[in-house]
Amino acid sequence: RGGLSYTVSVTIPYRPALAGLEPYGAPQLDVPVTLNVNENPYPPSAEMIADIAAAVADAAASLNRYPDRDFLALRADLADYLAAESGVRLSPEQVWAANGSNEVMLHILLAFAGPGRTVISFTPTYSMYVEYARDTFSEWQTLPRRDDFSLDLEKLPEELARIRPAVILLASPNNPTGTALTGDELSAVLDAAKGNGPADAPGSDCLVVVDEAYGEFRRDGVPSALELLADHDNLIVSRTMSKAFGAAGLRLGYLGAAKEIVDQLQIVRLPYHLSAVTQAAARAALRHSASQLSQIAALREGRDAIVRRLHSLGLDTAPTDANFVMFGTFPDRSEIFTRVLDRGVLIREVGPAGWLRVSVGTPEENEAFFDALEEAMK
Ligand code: PMP
Repeated sequence: RGGLSYTVSVTIPYRPALAGLEPYGAPQLDVPVTLNVNENPYPPSAEMIADIAAAVADAAASLNRYPDRDFLALRADLADYLAAESGVRLSPEQVWAANGSNEVMLHILLAFAGPGRTVISFTPTYSMYVEYARDTFSEWQTLPRRDDFSLDLEKLPEELARIRPAVILLASPNNPTGTALTGDELSAVLDAAKGNGPADAPGSDCLVVVDEAYGEFRRDGVPSALELLADHDNLIVSRTMSKAFGAAGLRLGYLGAAKEIVDQLQIVRLPYHLSAVTQAAARAALRHSASQLSQIAALREGRDAIVRRLHSLGLDTAPTDANFVMFGTFPDRSEIFTRVLDRGVLIREVGPAGWLRVSVGTPEENEAFFDALEEAMK
């Protein structure tokens, strides 16, 4: 691509920053076992399917009208879900939602970053972050994680004072490494953020966005950043129904933050961004939280079993609190990826050189993965 498209369509006014780029996205291949995008491998229950169908039918009856723009009923349901999951009670006004946490993040950067402002994160991390920054015309900088993929907290206050970022994006558990932040690390980041906000807002704090897309998979004893919201107005905690909740197809991401932050996000959202169908389906799905989350313990055990088995093959793994494992290292990871794929198992070529990532599947899928991997490594 790139070069060629210029010669065939010179009349298209490509934006220089976007010309020749490929859209982001993992390969969507029709293979027997897909362990590449960290989905929950279990489909919804029959009860949830029936409830969603009835709720959508009900919503369809008034599709001639625009949907509820403020969707406070859904925000109240999400607040209830968060209270049950983490023990932290937020008001509906402290919750915001959009079409996947990807769109939630876009709202955050549209509202708080932008031209002349800097967004930072700690690499290796989720590869969409740089794209959110690009798409909102924000400056993008990264700080490296240590060899064990934890944060270098000692240098952080000095780095933040130098960079003065508007927004710090911090995934916990991190993708693709799986690394979770401890309570102490989180507090240290929030401390360092104080007073180091962007130069065009003197005296402000940096916004700290903790992306807990995989939050429900965290180990016992690892706190959710939601617990710190009461004491930190500059904290945003992002969640999604795509992963542990098992509803990636629904496209529903959400966040908890101070009401003032949520009010500001509403300035940049497109009107009616959450369709009536999405709102109805999400509310119906949330009524089935208990059964949706019932597989979490098994998925966590599956993850730990995958780690043990990778070790028994002589491989390294990054410590993980998520529903995936980054493993390696391979002199030629592409070759391993392809050989595993040839055996019908799609994993992900992502992360630092030499590493691969596999999502936790059903026991049968995990078995198929190891059969394929062992063959591929011969
Ligand atoms: N954050 C992280 C760390 C992720 O890994 C993902 C999905 N891969 C997302 C956000 C976006 O998820 P969604 O838009 O489906 O909520």
